Amino acid sequence: MSLSARPIIITGNWKMYKTIEQSIEFIRELPSLVKNDQTLVYLAVPFTAINASVKAAEGSNIVIGAQNMNDASEGAFTGEVAGKMLVNAGAKFVILGHSERRRIFNESNQFINRKVKRALSDGLQATLCIGEKASERDEGKTEAILEEQIRQGLEGITDLSHVILAYEPVWAIGTDRAATPEVAEKAQKFCRSVIASNWSQKAAEKIVIQYGGSVNSENAKALLEQPNVDGFLVGGASLSVETFAKIINTLSG
Ligand code: PEP
Repeated sequence: MSLSARPIIITGNWKMYKTIEQSIEFIRELPSLVKNDQTLVYLAVPFTAINASVKAAEGSNIVIGAQNMNDASEGAFTGEVAGKMLVNAGAKFVILGHSERRRIFNESNQFINRKVKRALSDGLQATLCIGEKASERDEGKTEAILEEQIRQGLEGITDLSHVILAYEPVWAIGTDRAATPEVAEKAQKFCRSVIASNWSQKAAEKIVIQYGGSVNSENAKALLEQPNVDGFLVGGASLSVETFAKIINTLSG
């Protein structure tokens, strides 16, 4: 397992799945299946289930957050949700820049950067997702893309202590084709070096970098053994409480 002083954070991203009742049931069941208390467990639930999930998680170490927010503090933006509203509902963190938002909703690095700034000023921890597409990897552009997404996504943010990075190669998301431990480690080591050269060595040592993309209970152990993999962002496999618990239990052997 990682020998770093960084915490291991495993985040479930439920996407557009689960009702309020299903969320409560999952959250009540999870602690009894988890065998270690060394892993921090985060759940990014649908907006509609945030408040009920926060209440269901009371007394456990499960941290509830959201999957997106708008960059404005409030305003005439029909259908959008502000960071302050997430805080008001009890959310502690928000996922930003997920590849589904970049691809389907055309979110740019600049827009994502404004959201990260707003999330931090609203008191939320921000999980910034970055990752190259298959074509970009094939063209040898992986590192250039990662560097651009990190530098532009975090531009103007001097304090990274409330930022988590999630390296999610787009070709690995929802495909059952996870990155090998070596591929994930190489990319995440590079991400850490970008933080070191554009922020500081200290910030680079402290920042949590998760891996995301087809993580399951079979591949989790080998990925988590990599020195620069500090946890996971899990999509599909976080929808079943048994499978998600198995991934969390990776750390207990
Ligand atoms: C994700 O959506 O962030 C993700 C990593 O999905 P999956 O685990 O299903 O590949």
